[in-house]
Amino acid sequence: MNTNDRLFSSFTLPNGTELKNRLFMAPMTTCTGYYDGSVTSELVEYYRVRAGSIGTIIVECCFIDDLGLAFPGAIGIDHDDKIPGLAKIADAIHGEGSRAILQIYHGGRMVDPKLIGGRTPVGPSAVAAPREGAATPVALTGEEVEGIIGKFGEAVRRAIQAGFDGVEIHGANTYLIQQFYSPNSNQRSDEWGGSRDNRAKFPLAVLDITHKMVRQYADDAFIIGYRFSPEELEVPGIRFDDTLYLLEKLAARGLDYLHFSLGAALRPSIVNTDDPTPLIDRYCALRSETLAQIPIMGVGGVVNASDACVAMDHGYDLIAVGRAAIAYPDWAERVRNGETLELFMDSTRREALNIPEPLWRFSLVEAMIRDMSMGESKFKPGVFVENVQDDANELVINVTLETDRIADIELAEGPDQNVEFVTSFEEIRTRILDANTPHVDAITGATSQSEAVKKAVSKAMVKSSKALAAEEGVDLNQDRRVDVVVVGSGGAGLAAAIQAHDEGASVLIVEKMPTIGGNTIKASAGMNAAETRFQRVKGIQDSKALFYQESLKGGGNKNNPELLHRFVENAPQAIEWLATRGIMLNDITTTGGMSIDRTHRPKDGSAVGGYLISGLVRNVNKRNIEVMLDTSVTDILFENGEVTGVRLTTEEGETIVVSTQSVIVATGGFSANSQMVVKYRPDLDGFVTTNHKGATGGGIALLERIGAGTVDMGEIQIHPTVEQTTSYLISESIRGGGAILVNQQGNRFFNEMETRDKVSAQIIALPEKYAYIVFDEHVRAKNKAADEYIAKGLVTSASSPKALAETLGMDYHAFLATLERYNGFVEKQHDDDFGRTTALRAPINEGPFHAIRIAPGVHHTMGGVTINTETCVLNKERQVIPGAFAAGEVVGGIHGGNRIGGNAVADIIIFGTLAGHQAAMRAKR
Ligand code: ADP
Repeated sequence: MNTNDRLFSSFTLPNGTELKNRLFMAPMTTCTGYYDGSVTSELVEYYRVRAGSIGTIIVECCFIDDLGLAFPGAIGIDHDDKIPGLAKIADAIHGEGSRAILQIYHGGRMVDPKLIGGRTPVGPSAVAAPREGAATPVALTGEEVEGIIGKFGEAVRRAIQAGFDGVEIHGANTYLIQQFYSPNSNQRSDEWGGSRDNRAKFPLAVLDITHKMVRQYADDAFIIGYRFSPEELEVPGIRFDDTLYLLEKLAARGLDYLHFSLGAALRPSIVNTDDPTPLIDRYCALRSETLAQIPIMGVGGVVNASDACVAMDHGYDLIAVGRAAIAYPDWAERVRNGETLELFMDSTRREALNIPEPLWRFSLVEAMIRDMSMGESKFKPGVFVENVQDDANELVINVTLETDRIADIELAEGPDQNVEFVTSFEEIRTRILDANTPHVDAITGATSQSEAVKKAVSKAMVKSSKALAAEEGVDLNQDRRVDVVVVGSGGAGLAAAIQAHDEGASVLIVEKMPTIGGNTIKASAGMNAAETRFQRVKGIQDSKALFYQESLKGGGNKNNPELLHRFVENAPQAIEWLATRGIMLNDITTTGGMSIDRTHRPKDGSAVGGYLISGLVRNVNKRNIEVMLDTSVTDILFENGEVTGVRLTTEEGETIVVSTQSVIVATGGFSANSQMVVKYRPDLDGFVTTNHKGATGGGIALLERIGAGTVDMGEIQIHPTVEQTTSYLISESIRGGGAILVNQQGNRFFNEMETRDKVSAQIIALPEKYAYIVFDEHVRAKNKAADEYIAKGLVTSASSPKALAETLGMDYHAFLATLERYNGFVEKQHDDDFGRTTALRAPINEGPFHAIRIAPGVHHTMGGVTINTETCVLNKERQVIPGAFAAGEVVGGIHGGNRIGGNAVADIIIFGTLAGHQAAMRAKR
């Protein structure tokens, strides 16, 4: 039989189900689920593109209970509401012609408490896994053991209802099922522990309930597989003969396949290290007639057809392919065509390969990535000493470059005694060296440090390429030319750059700060839009007309009607523009001044800014759009009545002239320029600001110098809820999620959901000039931002309202009365005291209770340069200045006297993309 016949002929399982070939995609965790374990659309696509010529896909393990998830981003089957998402995966796989099996598991003592909201994991016994930092689990009671078996049964039912062709019971990887069988983790003295037979009861019970559910809800064609790890290293621990003993018992009850869990299909014993015989050989030699009836699947290290054939020579009936199926979505097809494959991926092809970002960062996958983006790079070799700064430290970093790669990164000066710092430095160093590019994701929890290290490497690369170019006689001072220069790398600038690039223009982004993202990165609530697809999905009835009216009312009727019309009209397509670029804002909340849920934010309820900027940066990198950091645009060059270029000053003080036909000014507002704020609004002297340091209004001056008009300069918004010691903005989504404001006396004093200007005015009118934003555990759980505030130490929490009031030095009788009264309003959905009509979501009664002390801070400058509805900058006579475009907070007029929460993000995407379009059109002319 030739190779293709061996691999690609059909195969019939013991239950009579025919598989079109013997090839399976192995179940591999992608860490791509939503925070609650539901399925993301990225995951559906990941599986869809891998289905087709491979016979069967085993979808990654799904936790059957919310205490059972063993890694971040795990997907779950613990509730009926997970069925529709899982059904999408099954449908996608079936649509391409493969079968779909779902693996189900419970992590037991392998679960990290951090993944289950700080709760203690469960296990057969209160014995921690033998690894550093492992939590000691709580031993399940007999009743709870029965309960978990029941949950496995429910999971099987859900898999059937989601349309899967089968389930694979995950009895391997030291998860709960294996924990019950192991004499190491199971030290129980009841019927579930002790003897080998007792320890086998749990895996057998899980198989029994699986059969029961299949009989009840499916038919004979439904496939039941079981995955096992053959040995454990621990003493005592599972040995190979124990495994055979259990497998014989499982086989006797009926199974359609067994899945041998090994890193390499032909691996020998890890316990008897003197014996080189592959375990599969021993398995085939020792198994009974009954066990031999069950097809056995091998996995580990299969990349080419020859690997699969060798595995089959040793006795495997079925072959599961892991990493090769990640690197080659059409793996089976390639093998069928006789290709010889190498296990690596081009660093620039993540999107093309449909690999979700978390999986791309998974160590086993990351190890397959080869950097191709620097293929053409040439450096002058040497050690480059770079001085950079993170949030807290001056760092000196030595970057060693060879002719074509980054060879080393060393911390020469910095807080090298700080373990946390050194650990994250090591992580970002490894990440950059492995990918051999500074364009890697920052380390979670060490963003500023990671950005500093990335910057040091980028600077060294630029210096060294320049040095090499100079040696090769290239004139670096010759004028550069691009179609479009974008000034500022906030949301408006990035959106404009992407759009202009996508319409064929060459684009340069110039950013004066050391990092990308501007003030947008701090945006919290979300992006407003009416009549969107995501609102329709959620059954939210909205209208553009109402959105217009409410924005106008919120802006005190001062908004420029034409700009506001354009804004409202283009908002839904801006939401779609983001979605098609992988930035999904499909969770919806509300902000002050809006009567309807129309504030779109990431599905997990997290703050919009970081998510938006990282998504936009991903798109910028994918398109290789150049970004010059630490570089200011100091002048817009203007000749013969039109823009001809820009003058830049780099961090090193070098002046560069770039010729261009179009400049898009997206430099943000001027909240961080207190002189300018006070010039227009003397009453705001001494106010803190929520903005980043770069919000200094320089773009307004740049444009004024070429004649631009300005409007509404005195319209400056103060945000009511700013933590004063850190200037940290407490998102409106907390109030939108159900929080209230109380004064130092413990009383509510205003409608919390009124517009920002009105709420701010009321806080300033209080004798103490501050207030507390108060919420309970229910609100916290639904708003990721709240966790960020807790982590930053901004929140005072207590187990009861009384304790909270006492900690805040408040009269607790008054505070309790306030809560009781407010909760009554929630119940009847009517606020008798202050007329709050929105976000009367749930009573504040679930401990712990939280409070943040807040007062207003300067937040947004509504005034700015004048533009028309096509983003062309207008001069004082309201005539177009050819070649000058502006978008985002630098522009005045759209928001009138008060910007509604959620309208700034909408503004930057709507007008940013319009500006990109206009600038690209000009380039074409
Ligand atoms: P928006 O929300 O309108 O996009 P952001 O505040 O998010 O505005 O972004 C504006 C960006 O422009 C900031 O990162 C700021 O540092 C940058 N910027 C401001 N002035 C200049 C300038 N003269 N040259 C280059 N970048 C600038």
